[in-house]
Amino acid sequence: MALASAAVEALTAAVTGPVLFQGDPRIPAEIGAFNTYPAHDPEVLVAAESESDVVAAVRFALENGLPVRVVSTGHGSPTPVVDGVLVSLRRFHGVTLDPDARIATIRGGTRWAEVIEAAAPHGLAPVAGSSATVGSIGYTLGGGLGPLARTFGFSSDWARGFRVVTGEGQVVVANGFENPDLFWALRGGKGGFGVVTEMAFELVPLTALYAGSVMFDAPHIEAAYRRWAEWSRDLPETITTAAALVSFPPLDMVPEPLRGRTLLAVRYAFVGDPAEGERLFEPIRSAAPVHLDGVRVMGPDEIAQIHNDPADPGPSWDRGLMLDSVDDAFVDTLLGALGPGAGAPFVACEVRRVGGATTRDVLGGSAVGGRGAGYTLVLVGVPDPALFESVLPAVADGLTAALAPWVSAVTTPNWAGGFGVPGTFDASWPAETRDRLATLRAAYDPSGLFPFGPAA
Ligand SMILES: Cc1cc2nc3c(=O)[nH]c(=O)nc-3n(C[C@H](O)[C@H](O)[C@H](O)COP(=O)(O)OP(=O)(O)OC[C@H]3O[C@@H](n4cnc5c(N)ncnc54)[C@H](O)[C@@H]3O)c2cc1C
Repeated sequence: MALASAAVEALTAAVTGPVLFQGDPRIPAEIGAFNTYPAHDPEVLVAAESESDVVAAVRFALENGLPVRVVSTGHGSPTPVVDGVLVSLRRFHGVTLDPDARIATIRGGTRWAEVIEAAAPHGLAPVAGSSATVGSIGYTLGGGLGPLARTFGFSSDWARGFRVVTGEGQVVVANGFENPDLFWALRGGKGGFGVVTEMAFELVPLTALYAGSVMFDAPHIEAAYRRWAEWSRDLPETITTAAALVSFPPLDMVPEPLRGRTLLAVRYAFVGDPAEGERLFEPIRSAAPVHLDGVRVMGPDEIAQIHNDPADPGPSWDRGLMLDSVDDAFVDTLLGALGPGAGAPFVACEVRRVGGATTRDVLGGSAVGGRGAGYTLVLVGVPDPALFESVLPAVADGLTAALAPWVSAVTTPNWAGGFGVPGTFDASWPAETRDRLATLRAAYDPSGLFPFGPAA
């Protein structure tokens, strides 16, 4: 679509950050996405540096009949944006802290790392995700289940308010008092309401964790996985844990104890007295000979070292599910499909125990889906883009079908898949929540400026 030069000039003059147009080779570097697979080439890229830049971008899109999408760190949807306006929030980050009130005020494109770093000197921590390079707002909009989820619940339970540029180009505040319906929706409703320019987030007092991961080598995976599955069923809320099958490539850059091996990593986070955390972890340490033991007392600023998610950009593919429960037959099915020697095209399959505090909704309610689930499961594909379109989805579909007896009806939207994939969000919320979200999207974005779901 040809854009009027006067409109383009006005946009460029109104925005302090760079404005780039389709075909500009600087677009990928300007976005700086974690997942380099989607070749974003929007009609207009607005690299916002402030809320007023976001307002200018949204009003420009409204006036020119263009859709608006948002990218922050690029950890999310792999669907390329090739039309309309793409608002990049990479430059628009920062945190202001009120330690007495335990509130962090977080700008649109801020990664968890920045919030963790600001909070730690005050003995505080955000209820963050497993990776500190993920965007705190994109993550929280989907609910957010992190390494401390059973103790503190969904991350969105700690959001105390938002500033949003709506589909009408207006800045609105959403919290328990102003626009409470939008506040309900932004805590787990994921997208289609506008661009969040600021989030007020309550921090928890936290000075130390007993946490990390232990690894079991191939001959001991089955015994350790069976023990974990049984042990994980009945745990206090002070423990959050995950079991991840991880295949490390045979590359020199990979440390020798990991290189070329398929290992089971049992991830563990205990909030409380470390001696008690150590005692409660004994059933896992004694399940089978341990290959590497990295569970220790750690500061809350080391939270990303529990899961050690990849932090460097590259092509990536993942798929997530929620599970009601796990049992011995689940372990048989999973290890049969993905265990050592199975040759599955995945580098990791992580099953996280949730439940505990994640089952309790906040006062006034929130849109989060999946509060009833007991576990999550995420598959990470071999990072070869040639497999992304058909091989990985087909193998993941087959595995999902085999796991049907354990798969929950609802799956949290953070792991739902690409915005362009039909049916992506069909299972993200119960029907009643999905309908209420659709009504609120229509209210805050009456012209459908922010495409959301399969139509995107
Ligand atoms: C390595 C890795 C680890 C992860 N760990 C966890 C985890 O522990 N728990 C969990 O729940 N999820 C996890 N996720 C999933 C992650 O929460 C989602 O992918 C999330 O959408 C990422 O948000 P982002 O802003 O970083 O990414 P982006 O791709 O930049 O954004 C994803 C979407 O979020 C929306 N968005 C982002 N910022 C804004 C904003 N300011 N206003 C409006 N919309 C916005 C947009 O719709 C955008 O398309 C992980 C993902 C990866 C790749």
